[in-house]
Amino acid sequence: MRFDGELLLRGDAGFEAARVDRVFNRRLPARAPAAVLKAASEQDVVRGVRLACERGWQVAVRSGGHSWPQWSVRDEALVLDLGGLQELEYDEATGVVRASPAVKGGAVLGPYLAARGRFFVGGHCPTVGIGGFLLQGGQGWNARGWGWAAEHVEAVDVVTADGELVRADATQNSDLYWAARGAGPGFFGVVTRFHLRTMPAPGHLALTVQAYRLEDFDEVMTWLHGVHADVADTVEIVALTKTDPAISTAPVLLVTALALVADAAEADRALAPFRENPALGRALLAVDAAPTTADEQRRRQLEDNPEGHRWAVDNAWLSGPAEAVVPAMRRAFTTLPNDTAFTIWFSMAPLRALPDMAFSLQSEIYLASYVPWQNPADDARNEEWLASVMADLEPVTVGQYLGDSDLSRRQLRFMSDDAWQRLQRIRAVRDPGGLFVGHLAGPDGPTNRNHWEP
Ligand SMILES: Cc1cc2nc3c(=O)[nH]c(=O)nc-3n(C[C@H](O)[C@H](O)[C@H](O)COP(=O)(O)OP(=O)(O)OC[C@H]3O[C@@H](n4cnc5c(N)ncnc54)[C@H](O)[C@@H]3O)c2cc1C
Repeated sequence: MRFDGELLLRGDAGFEAARVDRVFNRRLPARAPAAVLKAASEQDVVRGVRLACERGWQVAVRSGGHSWPQWSVRDEALVLDLGGLQELEYDEATGVVRASPAVKGGAVLGPYLAARGRFFVGGHCPTVGIGGFLLQGGQGWNARGWGWAAEHVEAVDVVTADGELVRADATQNSDLYWAARGAGPGFFGVVTRFHLRTMPAPGHLALTVQAYRLEDFDEVMTWLHGVHADVADTVEIVALTKTDPAISTAPVLLVTALALVADAAEADRALAPFRENPALGRALLAVDAAPTTADEQRRRQLEDNPEGHRWAVDNAWLSGPAEAVVPAMRRAFTTLPNDTAFTIWFSMAPLRALPDMAFSLQSEIYLASYVPWQNPADDARNEEWLASVMADLEPVTVGQYLGDSDLSRRQLRFMSDDAWQRLQRIRAVRDPGGLFVGHLAGPDGPTNRNHWEP
């Protein structure tokens, strides 16, 4: 079979680079694909799926390569690497942008739309591909106010398990459209193009930042727990602990609130609740409604998420009163294992109802811990720290978000039961032979169950 791009079989020169060079997490898995196809056209994707059928390979897909557990590197599969597809086209009449899955949400799509006065709720780290991000739900800028990025998907173009290229939206192939908004790596098709609804670019961005010593963690987080649902829905609220040498040599707790609004006066009003923080007098740093830009925010994200590192990441959707949630979170925030690790608390309150799509599990509070390091000798220590702080959270955990999860290490619920059953039913019709690799999980496969529950 002829390809516009390049097919590399295991054992070929260049195969190892094709296997992992575009993978962000450098704690590389040993998993051995049968081949990698560096697709250069949509037709290559169709041919790739057909080739896999002929050879009896499964199919794994790579868009941006940012999956923490390297979901695109799968044993005995054909890896369809979509990095060579970089279509981007905005339609002024509809406000819809067409984009290839490997387009980087922040580094490419964001500036492209900004130049046209438009905005898409892309991921925080500029280099994440929109493919994996959108398929698993997509927690983009101001998700608490503007919803999951998948809610802004108008349609997807998909190569199905029988090698056909189809459009899926609310009126045609609606089962695929439903699944493409939340199935994540469990999706049974290759998305070759997203059609995304954009919004007018916010006229003004303003940032409030307050830095506290970790001794103030309980007081500050208890206060935040009580007020975050009442903050205007134009404000993204993130509390995190990290080491920031510009503030202190010890890790600090940062309360950040980013208003994405029309003008400075609206920002001032939207950020006013943060001036009521009872610990404000003890803040090591307090910035109030300072004008900022999307570019500046993306730069900050790049600094926090350095390339070339080994990473361990995990997360939990939390629910409960402050008296239960704050102590359960304490060690995740106050015992970071190194000076590049960070833990975030991301407000999703008040919870918005979700449309009918595969993404179906969330709570008011998202917690995730991110540990980068470089020396393999630190692997076990960092893994153990992560496992132990996530164990502390179990009494207040309702499930997890696929984007920061590794089901092969820890199984949690990531969808509603109804959505999980519906996904299996659609998969049985769309991919009866199991061509697509599906969720990477332990020996029993994905369970969509919190591992401590019966
Ligand atoms: C530094 C960093 C920051 C992050 N920040 C955020 C954030 O702010 N918000 C958030 O929600 N997530 C975030 N994530 C998580 C990230 O969104 C997921 O890891 C996502 O899967 C990455 O998408 P990708 O296309 O880059 O990854 P890939 O590794 O290329 O894809 C992951 C998997 O998704 C599926 N997939 C991808 N593309 C396709 C396709 N075209 N067709 C079919 N299946 C496909 C495949 O199973 C694939 O293996 C972050 C990750 C990193 C590393």
